[in-house]
Amino acid sequence: MKSIDVNEIFYLNGNFGRRCPAGIKRPPLAVIITAPTKEKGMTKYFIIILLTLFMNLVFGQAEKIANKNVADSFEVNYNSENFDAIFSSFSMEMQNALPLDKTKEFLTDLKTQAGKITKRQFVKYEQAYASYKTNFERALFAVNISVDKNSKINGLYVKPFKESNLPKLVRNTTKIILPFKEEWTVIWGGDTKELNYHVESEAQKNAFDLVITNDKGNSYKTDGKTNEDYYAFGKDLIAPCDGEIVLVVDGIKDNVPGISNPVYVPGNTVIIKTENNEYLFFAHFKQHSIVVKQGQKIKQGQLLGLCGNTGNSSEPHLHFHIQNVEDMNSAIGVKCYFDKIQINGQTKTDYSPIQKEKISN
Ligand SMILES: [Zn+2]
Repeated sequence: MKSIDVNEIFYLNGNFGRRCPAGIKRPPLAVIITAPTKEKGMTKYFIIILLTLFMNLVFGQAEKIANKNVADSFEVNYNSENFDAIFSSFSMEMQNALPLDKTKEFLTDLKTQAGKITKRQFVKYEQAYASYKTNFERALFAVNISVDKNSKINGLYVKPFKESNLPKLVRNTTKIILPFKEEWTVIWGGDTKELNYHVESEAQKNAFDLVITNDKGNSYKTDGKTNEDYYAFGKDLIAPCDGEIVLVVDGIKDNVPGISNPVYVPGNTVIIKTENNEYLFFAHFKQHSIVVKQGQKIKQGQLLGLCGNTGNSSEPHLHFHIQNVEDMNSAIGVKCYFDKIQINGQTKTDYSPIQKEKISN
């Protein structure tokens, strides 16, 4: 089978844009830098380590003026790439922990991947850290900064931003059917990284990538060079259950197979909201093929549009997942069970298919 498609990481919510499962260097999900602490005798900076060893707990939820001033300057200097000034705002311990070249490297990487800060809002204190919900051009992060008594930064970390008051949904309770009529093959699906590279994305961790394959396992008829050569291209995609259409994106061009569009990552998209507030997310529809409208109430089995190859997708396929809210930036993925499904010809009920299984209603 061809390498795969991909889509994912729609809004770059801390996981950044993944293009293909292989060969792309991905940045860490969280980059955390703190000054060394006496308790641990740390002498270097750390990446992907959570440290909350600061003694002076702060319980108030009003931003202190020292934090505000430091955070304001950080933003200005970050956006203007004045990284020397940011380094100068570090405490001595922090400077020792994160020398100038490492500071620049970290900030340059962040800037390259996430872009400028466009909006920043104080949320709360986490231990000694003032935590800011921070919109970058291409990502939404919590930027946490702690300052010492001299108003120098002695702790700084950046991690994906999580709304704390979002509904929790472990699995769908609405009974759903597969969103197509023929037998399709699961390319990515399951709970482990080997079965499903989506697992690394919070919103898409339970997603499926689906194609149609022949008995040789190929998803295309001849050489795979055109979209029309793929079995899945142009196939009807149908509503898995009753619901309301809450988002439609339809104008994005189909890709030439093998050349993804990393700018409009999900490509043409439909989101259906169910009566149980599950958000069913479909990506990569064929351009101008979507026949439903935002706000429209739909019935199970109703045509949504046609399978395509738009967005960050390397061949025609359907990406489908369920999330707990509409906004991909803050959503958490919901495990997806189909009510009654044929797996390799056998009927299963309340089942969540995995990689390589051939599935049909
Ligand atoms: Zn996908």
